[in-house]
Amino acid sequence: MLSISTMAKTHVKRGFLCWGGNISQAMGVLDFIFPKTCVNCSRVGRYLCEDCQKHIQKVEFQICPVCGRPSISGLTHPKCETRRSLDGLHSFVYYSPPIPQALYKLKYKFVRDLAEDLLGEASLEKLDIFSGFSVVTVPLHQKRENWRGFDQVRLLAELLAGKLGIEFKESVLVRKKETKAQVGLSREARAENVARAFECVDREFVKDKNLVLFDDVWTSGATLKNAGAELKKAGAAKVWGLTLARSR
Ligand SMILES: [Zn+2]
Ligand SMILES: [Zn+2]
Repeated sequence: MLSISTMAKTHVKRGFLCWGGNISQAMGVLDFIFPKTCVNCSRVGRYLCEDCQKHIQKVEFQICPVCGRPSISGLTHPKCETRRSLDGLHSFVYYSPPIPQALYKLKYKFVRDLAEDLLGEASLEKLDIFSGFSVVTVPLHQKRENWRGFDQVRLLAELLAGKLGIEFKESVLVRKKETKAQVGLSREARAENVARAFECVDREFVKDKNLVLFDDVWTSGATLKNAGAELKKAGAAKVWGLTLARSR
């Protein structure tokens, strides 16, 4: 026999397919039917409970995006710099629990509160370096975005730009070809997977601009390096990588 919650879920899913209102209205209804639970420990109340928030580990030292070694403020080492390399990298927290759980949740469910909780943990006061910059994102492939219905990276980037008091600019980069999911690929395969994957479609905006290229996680960095190179090719003055999380 179907449990009441299974029936309710099925009902809501079906209802959602023909939902005429906006996404946040729809999610308001969902929150009412399914109360918020912590993504890490399942405690009822919020998406990231206070105890689990305490486990979030802030990045202690930033790294050079080219060689991956420690670097003051995340600036690319002068000897690592090339014409199209990123000029620096800043990440807020390590990719350790509850961050993977939270990002997974964000990927499959549009929860603005959770995004706010995540960014609340970010130490924004250190980011004066980005004044005068504009935030752009790495785009999801069209198909994948449609399948999920939204873009969690864009949601985080927009919120972050608001908190930093700098401009958010959408649709600067597009994906030229469908890239496979990066998870489970070797470093070489990742690089190959994203090489030449991006195209700048707003050169006018990019020219001589200082840009912050945002993504949720830095692992090999292949995605941001390639997207950054494309922005440099399009005439950007400076391109910094910025991620919520970074693997150790
Ligand atoms: Zn918790
Ligand atoms: Zn370096």
